[in-house]
Amino acid sequence: MPELSRTSNAFGGFRVNVKRFYVPFTLKENCPNCGERYTHCFDEAYLSYPMIGEPETVNCYCYKCDHEWERQIILTLDMRLHDAK
Ligand SMILES: [Zn+2]
Repeated sequence: MPELSRTSNAFGGFRVNVKRFYVPFTLKENCPNCGERYTHCFDEAYLSYPMIGEPETVNCYCYKCDHEWERQIILTLDMRLHDAK
C-alpha cells in the first residue's frame, strides 16, 4: 500500500519560490470605514513568494474613501494520492 506523508520540515512554514503566485480565491468584505463593497481577487493580485503555513498580510484599499486596512490569510497545502484504492 503506498504511503504519502509530510516530511518533518513541512510542518513549519516554507516558502513558495514563485514571484507571482496567482491562486483562485477572492476576499469580499465591506470597507471598515465607509461600508463600500470591497473585493480582492488573488487570481489577479498575486502573492509574491508566500509562506505556506504562516500568516500573510494582504493590503486592502477602498477607492471610494481612500481607506487602507490589512487582512491576514494563511495558505495551506494538501497532497493526496490520486490513484490509491
Ligand atoms: Zn471605504
